Amino acid sequence: MNKPVDKLFENNKLVDPFNRQITYLRLSVTDRCDLRCTYCMSEKMTFLNKKEVLTFEEMYKLCRGFIKVGIKKIRITGGEPLVRKGIMDLFSMLKPHLSYDLNELTLTTNGTQLSRYAKQLYSNGVRRINVSLDTLDPMKFKLITRVGKLQDVLSGIDAARDANLKIKINCVALKNINENEIDNFINWCVEKDFDLTFIETMPMGDIGNENRLNHFLSLDQLKKSLTSKYKLRDISLSTGGPARYSRIEGSNIKLGFITPLSHNFCSSCNRVRIDATGVLHQCLGQSNSLDFRKILRDPFSTDEDLLENIKNSVKQKPEKHSFAYDFSKANIKGQINRHMSLTGG
Ligand code: SAM
Ligand code: SF4
Repeated sequence: MNKPVDKLFENNKLVDPFNRQITYLRLSVTDRCDLRCTYCMSEKMTFLNKKEVLTFEEMYKLCRGFIKVGIKKIRITGGEPLVRKGIMDLFSMLKPHLSYDLNELTLTTNGTQLSRYAKQLYSNGVRRINVSLDTLDPMKFKLITRVGKLQDVLSGIDAARDANLKIKINCVALKNINENEIDNFINWCVEKDFDLTFIETMPMGDIGNENRLNHFLSLDQLKKSLTSKYKLRDISLSTGGPARYSRIEGSNIKLGFITPLSHNFCSSCNRVRIDATGVLHQCLGQSNSLDFRKILRDPFSTDEDLLENIKNSVKQKPEKHSFAYDFSKANIKGQINRHMSLTGG
């Protein structure tokens, strides 16, 4: 049974109608990106106008409100967060909270700008980052990202390591594209001591002429094939997200599997997402949302209104997403029109 509305905000806790405590906010700071990954965007994207995107002051005000009601971890994402001009200003504004009411400030990035920003991220309190990388082959990298240079990302990763940032690699598993280099990829992560998480492609946003079904690789299948080559031991670590982890015996690294399509792990979801326009999405795979930009830009709106709306924002958090691929009919169910680059990964 759903919880009564007045119980949703107790003792500085955000609790949704399915009794899940919401402690994790992912904030997208831009929908723009310097890459054009085929599973994420179409080649010719239309991006938001500057005035549609929240300013850093607005983003900070929103984060501060969320921290007040119990958010303990904030991930900055995008689009590519490090291409937003002045992005370190937002990190600097959030940094002081790490000393008293925020446990972690982190980032998901494609890595292209890390050579420039790694040290500043560390000095702004960031200790761990996720870097998205789907291949170690320069030609394939170009094929997947349409415009990128692998070396930029590899140099960025080196800079991040030199700056003492702990790195986790996120890799979208793509049938007929990177599936034959997965072993190589794992060995590279073991050698570098990077945790590695595989992700299934999700049906989000129009990607032009590309067809996600052609490249969907079930991680169940992948994991099965890996167990014949590596000694994998499932571990109970839960981050409240859709990943399930295994340890590779004989190494220090954790291997994660994000399987929104093969399995649904929504029952432990602890997060909400705010896109670059200030719209909060209660679930990556549903369309329930609340527009915070309207509230932030309303001259008559008070801090109390903001907090009240934050409190209300989890009321409609759905129980689960409804993504599904139907291979027999070659169609995709539960497709979401917005791109992952708007909401952030
Ligand atoms: N640009 C940054 C990056 O690539 O890390 C941050 C944003 S990106 C949208 C975040 C993550 O979403 C990346 O790991 C990317 O591979 C993943 N992603 C993008 N579109 C996806 C899709 N349709 N299905 C699954 N993962 C996707
Ligand atoms: Fe850009 Fe990240 Fe999307 Fe690739 S996955 S196009 S890097 S936002």
